[in-house]
Amino acid sequence: MQFKDIYQQAQAPVLSVELFPPKTEKGWANLEKELAQIMKHQVGFVSVTYGAGGSTRNNTLELVKYVRETYGVTTVSHFTCVGATKESVIEYVDRAMAAGSENLVALRGDPPKGQIEFTPTPGGFHYAYQLVAFLKEHYGDRLSLAVAGYPEGHVETRDLATSIEHLKMKVDAGADLVITQLFYDNADFFRFRDMAVKAGIDVPIVPGLLPITKYSQIDRITKLCGASIPADLTKLLTTYEDGSPDQQMAGIAAAIDQAGELLENDVPGIHIFTLNNSLATAHMVAALGHYFE
Ligand SMILES: Cc1cc2nc3c(=O)[nH]c(=O)nc-3n(C[C@H](O)[C@H](O)[C@H](O)COP(=O)(O)OP(=O)(O)OC[C@H]3O[C@@H](n4cnc5c(N)ncnc54)[C@H](O)[C@@H]3O)c2cc1C
Repeated sequence: MQFKDIYQQAQAPVLSVELFPPKTEKGWANLEKELAQIMKHQVGFVSVTYGAGGSTRNNTLELVKYVRETYGVTTVSHFTCVGATKESVIEYVDRAMAAGSENLVALRGDPPKGQIEFTPTPGGFHYAYQLVAFLKEHYGDRLSLAVAGYPEGHVETRDLATSIEHLKMKVDAGADLVITQLFYDNADFFRFRDMAVKAGIDVPIVPGLLPITKYSQIDRITKLCGASIPADLTKLLTTYEDGSPDQQMAGIAAAIDQAGELLENDVPGIHIFTLNNSLATAHMVAALGHYFE
C-alpha cells in the first residue's frame, strides 16, 4: 500500500517502525528475533535505512524483501543521494519496485565521514527536493515518497523557518509524507507542525521517536543530528547507570509519556526508530495500544 493510502484510509493513528540492515550474521539473527516481537503489534509499515554512501544498499533491499515476505507488511526502503547518479537512482528504485515497493523515503543523506559540507556526486543531486522531483517525473504515481522534517531545524540550517521552507520544497516536488527527526520536547514538534501547516504543507507529518534505552548512545546521536535532550530528562536518566535496566525503564516511560501526549494531539501516527530492538516498542504498544485500534 502507498504512504498516501495508508494515512488516508487509517481509522486510527498508524504505528510504523524503522529498522537498519545488520552488517553481520549475528546482527541478522538478533534482528529476526527482535522483529518477531515487533511484528506481534499492528504495524502500518516498516522502513529500512540506507547506509551512508550506499554501503548497505544490497542489505537494505534484502531486509525490505525479508520483512515483506515474512510478515506481509508494507516495507519501505530509504534512499540517499550520497554517491548516486541519476542512472544509479533509477537502477536502485527499479530494483526496489520490481521487488514490490511502491514507496521510498527520499533523502539527501549526510556528508561522508571526514567531510563537513555535502558535495553532490557529478550527475547526481544536491538536495532531497531535487531527488523527489526527479523520482516523481520518472515514476509518477507509481511511487509514493516520504521525506525528512526537522522539528528543531536541520543541523546545517538552524533557522526553523528556513528549514521549513526547504521542507515545503520537498512536498511541492511531490512528497506524500513527512517523517520527523527524533526530538524529546513535544513543544518543538507542535511549533514545527504549526509553522509547517501555515507554510502550506498539507501532507501527514509523523513524529519520529527514539526511546532512550542507553543515554550515552542517544546523547551522541542527538549531538550529531542537531536534536536536543531536555535538561530534566538528562538529569533523570543520568541518575541511573548507563544502559542499566533502571535507565532503560525510565527512558521507555518517558517515551510513553511523549508518545501519549502526541497521540492526544492529532498526530497521524508515530514512527519508532527501533535500533533493531523490540523492548521499547513492546512497552510503548502495551501502554498506548488502544490508540492504534
Ligand atoms: C526520518 C529520517 C530518516 C532518515 N534515514 C536516513 C537513512 O536511511 N540514511 C541516511 O544516510 N540518513 C538518513 N537520515 C538522515 C538524513 O540523511 C540527514 O538528516 C541529511 O543531513 C539531510 O537529509 P534530507 O533528506 O533532509 O536533506 P535536504 O532536505 O536536502 O536538506 C539538507 C540540508 O540542505 C538544506 N536545503 C534544502 N534545500 C535547500 C535549498 N534549496 N537551498 C539551500 N539549502 C537547502 C536543508 O535545510 C538542510 O540543511 C534520515 C533522517 C530522517 C529524519
